[in-house]
Amino acid sequence: MSDLRIETKCVQGGYTPGNGEPRQIPIIQSTTFKYDTSEDMGKLFDLEASGYFYSRLQNPTCDYVAAKICALEGGTAAMLLSSGQAASFFAVFNIAGAGDHVVSSSAIYGGTFNLLSVTMKRMGIDATFVSPDCTEEELNAAFRPNTKLVFGESIANPALTVLDFDKFAKAAHSHGVPLIVDNTFPTPVNCHPFEHGADIVTHATTKYMDGHGATVGGCIVDSGRFDWTKYADKYPGLCTPDESYHGITYAEKFGPGGAYITKATAQLMRDFGSTPSPQSAFLLNLGLESLHVRMARHCENALAVAEFLQGDSRVSWVTYPGLPSDPHYALAQKYMPNGTCGVVTFGVKGGRAAAETFMKNLKIAAIETHVADARTCCLHPASATHRQMNDAELKAAGVSPDLVRFSCGLESAQDLIEDIDQALSAVR
Ligand code: PLP
Repeated sequence: MSDLRIETKCVQGGYTPGNGEPRQIPIIQSTTFKYDTSEDMGKLFDLEASGYFYSRLQNPTCDYVAAKICALEGGTAAMLLSSGQAASFFAVFNIAGAGDHVVSSSAIYGGTFNLLSVTMKRMGIDATFVSPDCTEEELNAAFRPNTKLVFGESIANPALTVLDFDKFAKAAHSHGVPLIVDNTFPTPVNCHPFEHGADIVTHATTKYMDGHGATVGGCIVDSGRFDWTKYADKYPGLCTPDESYHGITYAEKFGPGGAYITKATAQLMRDFGSTPSPQSAFLLNLGLESLHVRMARHCENALAVAEFLQGDSRVSWVTYPGLPSDPHYALAQKYMPNGTCGVVTFGVKGGRAAAETFMKNLKIAAIETHVADARTCCLHPASATHRQMNDAELKAAGVSPDLVRFSCGLESAQDLIEDIDQALSAVR
């Protein structure tokens, strides 16, 4: 599959039926799997043989879909999780623990910001947030001897800043740590983080990958390129025996291509159980089959909406990295030349109250916390997803109080524009 194009991987990746087997991926709705001998089972527990024993850790349906996303990203191993939040948590906690430190772009999803700045801090992991547009010096200054990773979003939700992969990957690698990138917004259809220096990719599959507002889910993909053993002192969890798992040393046994995901599965999934259901994985796969077709349409609609808003006197500002006037247009052209995402943000003249009136009057676009869906939806992040942030944190995350996040669906672009037009008129 590795030499096939993205469109073919979206449709057929991850699962190749044998003669007479189901054409669609089977839903293996079983918590457990039967074996003839305890010895057979023991080999699975020792990770000596591949196979399934309990769906909290792994399930075939979920693995087919993880394999598809792995192929889409060009990775060596991947796992599905029950949510995007679980994916972000596992991706970080797999290599950072109490006493460690992470460097993160400040322009990230509000839930991830909270995870890093509040919840993981309670677990003893400190985070330093840097502006995505910081200088190399500012970025390098954020590192400490106990820094274990760098985190960023390829296109930030909702700031829509585009990650400067070269800058972030260079800084991460020169400090001997991996770059983890949340690639939810552009998806692998529009952006390939591994080609630009990222080592691990995370996804909220809840968004474009599912695409139909049907299933919450997450995914982690490993590029297999980070050499953990080169920094063995820094990553004892991967490079020394795991006494909780029969003394296995993941980096030794599974190499750079498999160590990270095997540890996250055998250890974190075992202990935290953020398991997706096979039914959810099946629905996610239906979304993935049309991802390449949908992404093009989401981007086309978003560009049309952004161009309309840019020329409208009732709007104070517009952000869309696909607009040539956007400050992140050059980075978008460099890292995602075929398109960015379907989300546009803008400010309605009149501030917070005007934004609320505007949203109330929309007829096609619905007010939802969701984003990246077939149906157009919108949100006022300062009063919803980002409400836990103070004004300074909002500013650092690129969220102004008047910001409306408008997620263009797959409807007619003209209908969306006419809906926005009438709702802007209602503000007066
Ligand atoms: N990452 C990004 C970029 C997101 O937009 C979201 C949710 O909106 C998440 C992660 C968290 O995903 P989930 O809601 O599936 O937990």
